[in-house]
Amino acid sequence: MTSPSKKVRLAFVFLFVLLAVNFLAAQGMREGGLDRVPDGQHGPGAGVMPAAPSGGAVVQGNGINYHTGGTVLQGNPVPIYIIWYGNWTNGPKPSDSAVTTSLVETFLGSNALGGSSYEAINTTYGDTTGNVSGHLNFTAHVFDNYSSGTKLADRTLPTVLSHAFSAGLPSDANGVYLILTSSDVSESSGFCRTYCGFHTHATIGSKDIKYAFIGNVDKCPSGCEIQSTGPNSPAAAVGGADGMINTITHETEEAITDPDLNAWFDASGNEDADKCNFKFGPTTTCAAGSLCTSAGIGSAAKFNQSFGGHVWMIQMEWENSRGGGCDQTLGGPFFTN
Ligand SMILES: [Zn+2]
Repeated sequence: MTSPSKKVRLAFVFLFVLLAVNFLAAQGMREGGLDRVPDGQHGPGAGVMPAAPSGGAVVQGNGINYHTGGTVLQGNPVPIYIIWYGNWTNGPKPSDSAVTTSLVETFLGSNALGGSSYEAINTTYGDTTGNVSGHLNFTAHVFDNYSSGTKLADRTLPTVLSHAFSAGLPSDANGVYLILTSSDVSESSGFCRTYCGFHTHATIGSKDIKYAFIGNVDKCPSGCEIQSTGPNSPAAAVGGADGMINTITHETEEAITDPDLNAWFDASGNEDADKCNFKFGPTTTCAAGSLCTSAGIGSAAKFNQSFGGHVWMIQMEWENSRGGGCDQTLGGPFFTN
């Protein structure tokens, strides 16, 4: 990585070459093979640290590599800020609603994802000054009523962030910002075509701001949802909240372990969550007496986690210990699918 503005994008190597000046790190889609090829390519020339420095916090040799000079977010907890962009009270899809905003903010709480044995997997990552805490917490949000229109692009996302800071959202180089868009908003670099979400960083107001774009996946359920009715769905086929939560999980763990796209990824450019993209491990089916909604029970929705007063269907994360593998909790068994 030589340019501070580098982002990583895209699934195909030949396109990657064409687009090498404009990188971002994306969650690939679940079908069509896009998630079988690197979707988080990093620039050539990044140096792989061959061994942990004496006394350092970095552990190597578990299928993912720390790159010299890279940093992680060590906040305890890491603050999570949300920009609800578009119409989140009465948008065109039923999931463009307060049910989704409430569920996502509950999910990101310190007594939910932020304190879970799942998020603890992130503690296996660090840099030469310390490790990831494994804790995060939803801290603040703003609602943005289409300040940049319904057609967003990579270059307009920093404008959306600046608008949010002007509206009172704290500007915090140690946090992660989620730009969550209602289903009528597009992102021209490939939302619903080549990715479900991505994370990157940019200098805004002299601070290095880490952020992710994640759209309402009810815009493209076949590509970005593992099931159209999730365990928390308020009605059949209103799966946007559960689907976005899966993408949020992916992007937040990557934004913490590879915030500037220069710390943790493997030889193919895959970050920790990419290595387990749309892999869930063993699941349980919603049934009477579970924490699922009646729609989830009626649709026999699947879940694989239970915390924060809900059940959830979220992909596994790559654990950087014990040789490396995808698991549902720190120290738990590894699963290949
Ligand atoms: Zn990713």
